[in-house]
Amino acid sequence: MMSYLDTTPTQYRSDKETLVCLRTMLSDHPNSLDTYLKTGGYAQLKRIVSEKVKATEIITQVKLSGLRGRGGAGFPTGLKWSFMPRYYDGTKYLVCNTDEGEPGTFKDRDIIRYNPHQLIEGMAIAAYTLGARVGYNYIHGEIWEDYEIFENALAEARAAGFIGENLFGTNFSFDLYAVHGYGAYICGEETALIESIEGKKGQPRFKPPFPASYGVFGKPTNVNNTESYASIPWILQHGGQAFQDLGVPNSGGTKLFSVSGHVERPGNYEVKMGMPFAELLEIAGGVWKGRQLKAVIPGGPSTAVMPAAAILGATMDYDGLSKAGSSLGAGSMIVMDETTCMVKTLKRLSYFFFEESCGQCTPCREGTGWLYRVISRIVNGQGKMEDLDLLTDVSSNISGRTICALGDAAATPVLSFIKHFRPEFEYYIQNGHSMVDAQQNPGKYKQANLEVAHA
Ligand code: SF4
Repeated sequence: MMSYLDTTPTQYRSDKETLVCLRTMLSDHPNSLDTYLKTGGYAQLKRIVSEKVKATEIITQVKLSGLRGRGGAGFPTGLKWSFMPRYYDGTKYLVCNTDEGEPGTFKDRDIIRYNPHQLIEGMAIAAYTLGARVGYNYIHGEIWEDYEIFENALAEARAAGFIGENLFGTNFSFDLYAVHGYGAYICGEETALIESIEGKKGQPRFKPPFPASYGVFGKPTNVNNTESYASIPWILQHGGQAFQDLGVPNSGGTKLFSVSGHVERPGNYEVKMGMPFAELLEIAGGVWKGRQLKAVIPGGPSTAVMPAAAILGATMDYDGLSKAGSSLGAGSMIVMDETTCMVKTLKRLSYFFFEESCGQCTPCREGTGWLYRVISRIVNGQGKMEDLDLLTDVSSNISGRTICALGDAAATPVLSFIKHFRPEFEYYIQNGHSMVDAQQNPGKYKQANLEVAHA
């Protein structure tokens, strides 16, 4: 068996009192069972199962907590749990979505790396509440080390009697398995993930029916994100209201923000919902090299980019970012400084969505290719002014016309980048090179402009 990582955490935190999902981070061996037990781990599972707490009481607490799906959709977790059929005779399944694959998204792997037992306890509590006998944690295929850590934690939990048959001497049994993907972004979509668990090609299903009625092997299935399940033991230990009170109305609790890009200290930060963006940026060390903030993608590339002026006054919660013109997504905050060329950045993002389209729907399969090729044409210096309308038109024709949300996700960066940074795109088309590059290296581009003028 692989030994646990003897690691010094590389993440940063603002205030240890607010730690929920990463509460073992302060220990020398944060992912060990001993450490988790010392923080009160598995006590809630034992209490609930031994005392036969009613499922409705647990769901009430989860609803009260204001916990919303942390994978990006933000759907209220307690409400989702209430959709599972309660009096279904056959097997029901529980699935954890640890298939985080969007650029800039790296929080769930750290929950597994530093606190896997809290995730296991959260899933076991959910299984008890929803009547599921079997669970799967689907882990993204490019984070093998975390997969092994989770497997080790499962073996520890099984040996200690926290998962398996007849837990705590009752008739409640729960088996939990780790499943790994192979790196396809689309398997993070819950129905594609279910197909993949079944051994099929990971492609999204038409909905309805939703997983609560037709999930793994056609059985009722509850799918939640890693951070959502990992929040459950804390909620039941302290009460739903206490979790809600950590955050702001409509956004209860803490949130893990994966901060990347042009900051001094990139990493995962668990902070209270509603924290002003400026404060979170400061915790991450501010914009690096003393440069100016230009833009931020606050929730991952499928959320709209925000210019500095728009995000500097915003708060990091569902309503705060929505009012400011974007969304919280998975909390994957990509910071860009003044030297970032937005045209080239959009080309990179468009390539990602083009590459990751599963190809089932024509608007997504063809549209993502069109977007990438037209943006590439601009970056290659062959763009036309009509291309901006073409990009907008293609994006608008993808949105809302596909089986899953990847289509909308591909359109969002294109629409928001052009909306907020149109002069940069126009400059690129007119001059055949980047405005930012020209600002950074005026001598080189002045010469290039002269050569174009004399050609
Ligand atoms: Fe596949 Fe794209 Fe359709 Fe989603 S929107 S099902 S990724 S083709």
